[in-house]
Amino acid sequence: MAEIVIIGAGLTGLSAAYHLEKQGFTDYKLFEKEAEVGGLCRSVYQDGFTFDYTGHLLHINDAYFKEFISTVAGFENFNTIHRKSFIYSQDTYTHYPFQVNLHGLPARTITECIEGFINRPRTKKLPLDFKKWVLTSFGKGIAEHFFYPYQEKIFSYPVDKLSASWTGRFVPKTSLTEMIQGAIQPPQEQQIGYNAQFFYPKQEGIFFWIKRLYQQLQQPVYTNHTVTSINLNEKKVIFADGSSEHYKTLINTMPLNIFLKLLTGHSAQPLKNASKKLLCNSVVNFNLGIERENFSDKHWIYYPEKQYPFYRIGFSNNFAQSMAPAGCSSLYGEFSHLQKPQHEVEELLACALQQTKKILHIADSEIVTEKIITIPHAYVIFDRWRDNNLPKLLTRLAQENIHSIGRYGAWKYSSMQEGLLEGKAISETLLPS
Ligand SMILES: Cc1cc2nc3c(=O)[nH]c(=O)nc-3n(C[C@H](O)[C@H](O)[C@H](O)COP(=O)(O)OP(=O)(O)OC[C@H]3O[C@@H](n4cnc5c(N)ncnc54)[C@H](O)[C@@H]3O)c2cc1C
Repeated sequence: MAEIVIIGAGLTGLSAAYHLEKQGFTDYKLFEKEAEVGGLCRSVYQDGFTFDYTGHLLHINDAYFKEFISTVAGFENFNTIHRKSFIYSQDTYTHYPFQVNLHGLPARTITECIEGFINRPRTKKLPLDFKKWVLTSFGKGIAEHFFYPYQEKIFSYPVDKLSASWTGRFVPKTSLTEMIQGAIQPPQEQQIGYNAQFFYPKQEGIFFWIKRLYQQLQQPVYTNHTVTSINLNEKKVIFADGSSEHYKTLINTMPLNIFLKLLTGHSAQPLKNASKKLLCNSVVNFNLGIERENFSDKHWIYYPEKQYPFYRIGFSNNFAQSMAPAGCSSLYGEFSHLQKPQHEVEELLACALQQTKKILHIADSEIVTEKIITIPHAYVIFDRWRDNNLPKLLTRLAQENIHSIGRYGAWKYSSMQEGLLEGKAISETLLPS
């Protein structure tokens, strides 16, 4: 029996454990299904290359998080990087964000974007529906040339069924002046958006700072412990090997849809029923080690057009030299799908690799290594059902003394910074000083 049981030793679970210990509390147990901690914030080391579970960049705008990174991982161990990201469409590279960097696109496209912005529908309150939100915020041209096709690719979900509740700080707004300036002059130094500047570990990939966090813990983490059911009546977590652990309070960070499915007990059924309604896509992340120095001067490129299966390709040796051996470069690409059968995913992967090599002019003989990583839970789908029902679900769980947090525990779109802060917040809620 532990006073507090934590499911999942990804960043959020590790942070909850760290902050409980920081308050002097050690009567908790942290269980993880994998053999190592870190969840999505791990890195793979292969043939001299380091690959993350796709690009994972550290964005810091919170004072506590900054202090935490400084104390636990040391800022001297990170590169400070100014974003060089691009959009490739109509055979042209334009700078990100699209809406203020139209320079270089065909005149007709620029005209459609500016006209669309001027003639966009105006409302007092921004719509909750994503498609209408884009139209009201940016107009028809920007919507059709970038936002609609790009978001449909990243979410693998029709834009007219998406809600706008995830947009917040992730989508920078614009003005007519900025748009016109961006259309007539080449890109200037820009600090637009949440990721204009980021940090990246000099060594060991993004896993570097997660390992530092893990090393701070005094209590063990129980790895290779897959939770297979949670009995609400007995307040008991049961594992794949048949063992179990009682709790008074449960902190869950595993994906909420699976967690709900695993509930048993008198009040479990309505919660289990909600499981199927929570939608989330999967991402396939293909990584290539390439024998060519300085392969690209960019950090990453967005691909909104349908002809490319991937929505983004990045170059991680431009985050830290240590990501690739001397004389080599590394590339990561991503495509998403919503519950596609395996053979279709494999066809998409083959097509993605072929197209990547073609548009970036990579010869097979230059490829030193390849690593495919699948992320079964990647982008939560923000549809109307989620908007209307998620708060009630999380409240209902809290009544059972279950706090479901983190990107997938709380079923949302959030960053590493938010994961760390959520772990801190829950420890402070449970152990008020
Ligand atoms: C494609 C993509 C790109 C991203 N890029 C960035 C970025 O650039 N910058 C940024 O800040 N953030 C980024 N993120 C977000 C970041 O990955 C998350 O915010 C963070 O990793 C969430 O951590 P978590 O602990 O909440 O979830 P997870 O990392 O998913 O951890 C959950 C843990 O629960 C464990 N678990 C699952 N099931 C069970 C079970 N049955 N029993 C026991 N344990 C279980 C898992 O193994 C895992 O370790 C990105 C995410 C994605 C998908």
